[in-house]
Amino acid sequence: MSDAAEVVGDGKVVSIEYVLTDPSGEELDRSGETPMAYLHGSHNIVPGLEEALHGKTVGDSLRVEVPPGKGYGEKGKTKPQRVLRSHFPPDAPVEKGAQFLMRGQDGQPFPIWITKVMGREVYVSAEHPLAGVTLCFDVTVRAVRDATDEERSHGHVHGPGGHHHHGDDDDDDGEEE
Ligand code: ZN
Repeated sequence: MSDAAEVVGDGKVVSIEYVLTDPSGEELDRSGETPMAYLHGSHNIVPGLEEALHGKTVGDSLRVEVPPGKGYGEKGKTKPQRVLRSHFPPDAPVEKGAQFLMRGQDGQPFPIWITKVMGREVYVSAEHPLAGVTLCFDVTVRAVRDATDEERSHGHVHGPGGHHHHGDDDDDDGEEE
């Protein structure tokens, strides 16, 4: 366990099990059957959790309280924007709480969430639904490995427990997300 290969640091793929609750103890999220894998140092997870995991090793368990400023941000920083339903794919699940990836003018994808649907008008916000919430993580480090070159260049993990932004019809050739 003292092997440096198993220490959480930049460029490592880290697999964690976690339970996320709000300060009142209500569960908001938890890892699935497969521990969640993320690329450390690439902002795949909220900054407060990433900082707390830095230097930890396989088997370490910790409780981390992350204030909004190091979580999903403060609430009320951005106003919802109105877009037309027709801007979404016809078969998309356009409903309150749904998340979509938009492409900015610089080509970089960024997430938005639907806050309200009124007929043909859809209100979206770049504000995460958990903005303003203090996040309480009970987290255990299950595995640490070196990232592949491809993962490093993409800035996220491939394979079990990793991101699923690469669609089924996507041959994973590079630039998306
Ligand atoms: Zn990728």
